[in-house]
Amino acid sequence: AEAEIGVIGLGVMGANLALNIADNGYHVAVYNRTTARTDEFAASAGELSDKVTACATLEDFVAAIRPPRPVIIMVKAGEPVDAQIAALKPLLAANDIIIDAGNANFRDTMRRFTDLEGSGLTFIGMGVSGGEEGARHGPSIMVGGAEDAWKRVEPVLTAISAKFEGEACAAWLGENGAGHFVKTIHNGIEYADMQMIAEVYGVMRDHLGMDAPTIAAVFSAWSTGPLDSYLIDITAEVLMVQDAHTGRPIADIIVDAAGQKGTGRWSVIESQMMGVPATAIEAAVAARSLSAMREQRALAQAEFGLPAQHDRREGQAVIKDLEKALLAGKVAAYAQGFAVMAAASAEFKWNLPMATIARIWRAGCIIRSRFLDEIATAFTNDPDVANLALTPAFSAMIRDTDASLRRIVAESAMNGMPVPALASALAYFDTYRRARGTANLIQAQRDFFGAHGFARLDAEGEHHGPWGS
Ligand code: NDP
Repeated sequence: AEAEIGVIGLGVMGANLALNIADNGYHVAVYNRTTARTDEFAASAGELSDKVTACATLEDFVAAIRPPRPVIIMVKAGEPVDAQIAALKPLLAANDIIIDAGNANFRDTMRRFTDLEGSGLTFIGMGVSGGEEGARHGPSIMVGGAEDAWKRVEPVLTAISAKFEGEACAAWLGENGAGHFVKTIHNGIEYADMQMIAEVYGVMRDHLGMDAPTIAAVFSAWSTGPLDSYLIDITAEVLMVQDAHTGRPIADIIVDAAGQKGTGRWSVIESQMMGVPATAIEAAVAARSLSAMREQRALAQAEFGLPAQHDRREGQAVIKDLEKALLAGKVAAYAQGFAVMAAASAEFKWNLPMATIARIWRAGCIIRSRFLDEIATAFTNDPDVANLALTPAFSAMIRDTDASLRRIVAESAMNGMPVPALASALAYFDTYRRARGTANLIQAQRDFFGAHGFARLDAEGEHHGPWGS
């Protein structure tokens, strides 16, 4: 047995991860349920072939790896992972490590930890972000499990991970489900980020009447400023591409219905369970669901038409406002995402290192950005802050962008431009920063119909109103 590590599942992610491992000088054994895919992989390994042992059976695969064996499972999330673990279990020996690197629901990961307890096998739940390119040349890697298990695989995982100014974007984040939870929130934030970019694109396209190449130039210019990020870069790039058949911008002929696989929804569900608002992520998930209702939207437009366009501002002022509104929206989305992680950290006793999370998201992953470097710094300076918005750097950013966000949301409302995530960000800030809210009325209503009681500003204890007397 000469392989130092194994990879099961040679789909987009598994195949690229295996090549990345080989590229970093580790000998890797690979296996895929469908053997044709294994053969294809072996044929495509090229000069890395001598670092790869392609196996047709799980038995051969296990035999090819030197014990104690680290085995990465990179198959479709859900039932296939359980099936794969069940098939592997009898073949592995004590101290072997099973690493689930797919997009698992962290609750499944928690269950798998419990299921494997006492088996002698070690389990790691590992979030990987970066898509195909990241898997091949350096993803962001979020690890959950026992810390000593992490220590055993740390060299290979840091070797294959992305580097931000030389620092590896791979880290141990906590016990059991911590890695997959953080990956889930990463994806939730990614949903919000993408949605808000799509919203300002919508304002430019449908309100300002700009064509795709003109919008591309705006995003391109933004990518040298505070919004500098992978998602802004690819947005600019995508909007510049022409369809070979029609000569039109390809974005104009892509169907406006977004897919989703679950991580955004899980982020929202978990945030709701913990009572932490993640309104920008919620708005983004709902927007994808609404996008999928194309037939209904066509019927509704036929029924209601579209609001008249007025208040159109021309020139650079509105573009500057859009840039700042997007930045303000980003602050809300990230503040919310980190607040959800803080709550989960307390609930599941993970002790999540917020600054480290921001640091390993600075390169490799889909939400990588300059902005994350600033978040890392903010949490390093102020590790226990209740909300990112309350750190000096981000509070300054909010002050600087608040008026722009307000103008863009107001103008969008007046012109019927849907900007649900940006509007939710504004509503979140406006609610969050108001010391005296309106829940006094809700408490009065609750006490009126359900005798739920309320607290008074001027006295201790629980009180009831003199309703109906
Ligand atoms: P692909 O669809 O490219 O590949 C799926 C893989 O899963 C194949 O190897 C397939 O084997 C295997 N598989 C499916 N069902 C079973 C089963 N019942 N038993 C055994 N193997 C099975 O998926 P990806 O590589 O894109 O995704 C893999 C994981 O990585 C998923 O959890 C995904 O959410 C996650 N991920 C994906 C990212 C991406 O950008 N694509 C980014 C980050 C995470 P077979 O060839 O036999 O069908």
